[in-house]
Amino acid sequence: MTDFKSYISRYESFEICRRAASRTMERLAKNRGRAAQGIFERLKFCRKGNRCFSGACPVCARRYRLRLLSQAEHVLGEDDPWVQLWWTPPSALVAKGLLVDFDLGRLLDQQKQALLESMPGAIAIGGIDVSLGTRGSIAAVWRVSSCVLVSGSISQEAFDRLTHTFRPGSTSCHSFSIEPVLNQPHMLSYVFKHRIFARTYDHNMSAGSRPKFNTLHPSFADEADLFQERWPLWNRLLLHNVSAGKDPNRPTLRRLI
Ligand SMILES: [Zn+2]
Repeated sequence: MTDFKSYISRYESFEICRRAASRTMERLAKNRGRAAQGIFERLKFCRKGNRCFSGACPVCARRYRLRLLSQAEHVLGEDDPWVQLWWTPPSALVAKGLLVDFDLGRLLDQQKQALLESMPGAIAIGGIDVSLGTRGSIAAVWRVSSCVLVSGSISQEAFDRLTHTFRPGSTSCHSFSIEPVLNQPHMLSYVFKHRIFARTYDHNMSAGSRPKFNTLHPSFADEADLFQERWPLWNRLLLHNVSAGKDPNRPTLRRLI
């Protein structure tokens, strides 16, 4: 079993998250909007014994992830390889300024239904991953992607159903990938990713290369925080035949089959 406390400490130690929360507050302090000021106030009073549970708070997100990841590893099983599905429906490409009002509840319902239809008896866990797609220095769109890990191998029949459902270019899917992955902590960490980054997409990028991750420009970071306040990590989990409860203080992942 992975020691997630040591794993997360490398990039997401308490100190790193506390400093990130301070930088977020400095930035939000300059935003005169009421919603931004509301998040600023929540983060300001976040402390041990009285956590704020704002979706924009790096300290609270770390705390939740620490409690969730080892349970997730257990639910998926540590012996079999996992399969990663990653897809973005066309309706989940969102223009600047429209992210906060995006109907994520509806998208989540649709994605859960798609998983139910394509692999009813499987266990899958993950969440919604938001990133800002950029090309060169030009911001393109927010991408609201779904990313899950499936426990064990996938039958040819389920694979065919999945690739049919999520065929890129179809009405339900803009992009889709399915690949077996090693059961390693970074795969789990990624499907429950909290932070929103800018990702560069190069027109000439070869199929095997990965996009670069960059910190968001302040004009986008405020929008990302407002979205996270509305949709904290714990409300944008994508679980299939698994429950997690609603309490950000005490996530309890449980297999339902
Ligand atoms: Zn907090």
